[in-house]
Amino acid sequence: MSTIAVIGSGFSGLAASTYLGKAGYDVTIFEKNDQIGGRAREFQENGFLFDMGPSWYWMPDAFETFFNAFGKSAVDFYDLKQLDPGFQVFFGNKEIIPVPAGREALRELFEGIEAGAANKLDAFLEEGAFKYKVGMQNLAHKPALSIMEFMNYEVVSGAIRTHMFRSMKSYVRRFFKDPRLVAIMEFPVLFLGAKPSNIPALYSLMNYAALELGTFYPMGGMHKIVEAMQTLAVANGVKIRTGSNVQQIVTNNQLVTGIKTQTALFSCDAVVATGDYHHVEQALLDKPHRNYDNAYWDKRIMAPSSLIFYLGVSKKIKKLIHHNLFFDRDFDAHAMEIYDNPQWPKEPLFYVCCPSKTDPAVAPEGMENVFVLIPLAPGLTDTEELREKYYAIIMERLESECEDQIKDYVIYKRSYCINDFVSDYNAYKGNAYGLANTLSQTAVLKPSARNKHLDNLFYAGQLTVPGPGVPPALISGKIAAQQVINQLKPVKHETLV
Ligand SMILES: Cc1cc2nc3c(=O)[nH]c(=O)nc-3n(C[C@H](O)[C@H](O)[C@H](O)COP(=O)(O)OP(=O)(O)OC[C@H]3O[C@@H](n4cnc5c(N)ncnc54)[C@H](O)[C@@H]3O)c2cc1C
Repeated sequence: MSTIAVIGSGFSGLAASTYLGKAGYDVTIFEKNDQIGGRAREFQENGFLFDMGPSWYWMPDAFETFFNAFGKSAVDFYDLKQLDPGFQVFFGNKEIIPVPAGREALRELFEGIEAGAANKLDAFLEEGAFKYKVGMQNLAHKPALSIMEFMNYEVVSGAIRTHMFRSMKSYVRRFFKDPRLVAIMEFPVLFLGAKPSNIPALYSLMNYAALELGTFYPMGGMHKIVEAMQTLAVANGVKIRTGSNVQQIVTNNQLVTGIKTQTALFSCDAVVATGDYHHVEQALLDKPHRNYDNAYWDKRIMAPSSLIFYLGVSKKIKKLIHHNLFFDRDFDAHAMEIYDNPQWPKEPLFYVCCPSKTDPAVAPEGMENVFVLIPLAPGLTDTEELREKYYAIIMERLESECEDQIKDYVIYKRSYCINDFVSDYNAYKGNAYGLANTLSQTAVLKPSARNKHLDNLFYAGQLTVPGPGVPPALISGKIAAQQVINQLKPVKHETLV
């Protein structure tokens, strides 16, 4: 039986290994950290349970597709709750707009802000539905090894009709004028890690996902997804070795023959590397076998890093709901400080997740679990003093916008920033979400899912196809698994469902 080594236990590593386990291979995951889940780890402190990374559960169909492939459904593992409102936006001067679930309520909200916007919303979401279908059910599943994979009449004609290659910025403004509606429609782009002017309008599929399909939350926290995937992986024979830092991918001519951890050499017939792509190539592979050199990586536009605060607050904060966006300062100025002129932002926008509004399990009774995230340019100098400076700025804004005293009630606080992304995940420049989804970094223009010199080395994860985010990471794992199967010839199945 062929033996596969998977480097990394994030969503892409867990997905790849489970598909491969089911296909009959002998699969072992090697994870450097003591806990699995990668960027979606969790920790518990003083009665608070914190998800460390992702907090938005979008595209439930993508999770369902994954679980269905193993005869399961998300409900077999966790209770999925739809949030209504899905999120709210603080626009400054105490103006807060909750964005409801459901088309009728959304139409009412949009029409109340801008005359005629309800019908425009319908048109926007109709095009979004097409992009979602083509993007998530078709394009996202391609290994993107050749442009020919995308030469399909429906895709090409639809791309032109729905302005897929236009910028998100101009696309949104074709429909809406009011700056608050523009901000609501542009915000999902934050997850794709580029300025709306640099992201193709293909990604208005994210608006469709957020507004039409809805925002969900797995009770118990996002780590429940990791636990569910672990259960499935183990049920499919996958072995998981935590605390196993891979230090070298061992090669012989055109083949990988094994991997070396700090303690052992492990022989295998193929490797799926899901740690950050730059690290895998630059630190684990010898130079002649790398797909890309440092000059290539220097030119990539990385998605942002983040400064995060995990806070335990010993009271309830009335004005917060589960997801809160603080757009009370200039979006463009902050975006410039992330992408054009990288520096610590003068007046940052930020996001606050308060899962204790939905889930009593994540904070002691009468208290709040608060996760604050400020997007930052990757590669900035990260010091304790800077973190503290931004803590003070954010606390003041949070207290003012929520009209509540919060700082004095913080009984637990932990910060997490660029240096932590580097040391915990070997993240290039401390990126949080991988590579930005700009047009010049989409599909075949992303770092390749296959090594060009070694026939049995494959890549998965947020730096290769289809891109950053939990649903794309699940798909990325499946793409890599299919590549392995095609290369090694299947033990049981030819095509993954
Ligand atoms: C703060 C934050 C918020 C986010 N919010 C959302 C959200 O709300 N919704 C959403 O959909 N997405 C969100 N994302 C993105 C999403 O979490 C990621 O795209 C996804 O989790 C990436 O999974 P992955 O498998 O590609 O990588 P990772 O999760 O990074 O997994 C890679 C693994 O490889 C391991 N590794 C690296 N090097 C080695 C080595 N040498 N040896 C052994 N192991 C190694 C790492 O330790 C890690 O566990 C967020 C990300 C962050 C950081």
